[in-house]
Amino acid sequence: MRLIFLGSPGVGKGTFAKEVMAKKQIPQISTGDLLRNAMKLQTPLGIKIEGYMKTGELVPDELVLEILSERIHQEDCQNGFILDGFPRTIPQAESLEQKPDLAVDKVLKFNAEKEVIIRRLSNRRVCQNCGATYHLINFPPKVSGVCDVCGGTVGQRDDDKPEAIERRLVEYHQKTAPLVNFYQQRGLLVVVNANGEKHETMPQVWDVLES
Ligand SMILES: [Zn+2]
Repeated sequence: MRLIFLGSPGVGKGTFAKEVMAKKQIPQISTGDLLRNAMKLQTPLGIKIEGYMKTGELVPDELVLEILSERIHQEDCQNGFILDGFPRTIPQAESLEQKPDLAVDKVLKFNAEKEVIIRRLSNRRVCQNCGATYHLINFPPKVSGVCDVCGGTVGQRDDDKPEAIERRLVEYHQKTAPLVNFYQQRGLLVVVNANGEKHETMPQVWDVLES
């Protein structure tokens, strides 16, 4: 089962991905992590990538695909994978499509009303020390403002303040709308209603994956 998850910030994609990973025994593959990891390990590809990063150039799609292709041949991907952060553009989606070993089965697009997303994101709090995330209503830290994990300060990221959320959502829709059309035309897109809580969204996901 090779999947792509699309959805705006705050829609809950990460949470849904975790559920699918656990139940279907497939990893979530973040291209950002792969690139950082290759650089850290100084693999031949990593060294090339570092060259682009250093000069501030975009890493060519071809290189990203190469590294993705290496990754999905590892054993934990034998049941499939969930792609995270790639593709982001039509050319990337097109080149992905041309690699038979990277062909995806389904693209899940999680939709939620703007008000729902704003409510979720504006209640999000993050530990400034270890990055643990909290939610003021669903998952507050035990002691207000203090991280359960490390005792660090828990606060709101500038990105999660209302003005910034509006901007992120506009940016997201501009970038992703073409991809949604692309996968719709190919009959791969399935829309999942993510307005409700996790226990309302996940049954829809399981239905999609079983069908
Ligand atoms: Zn912490």
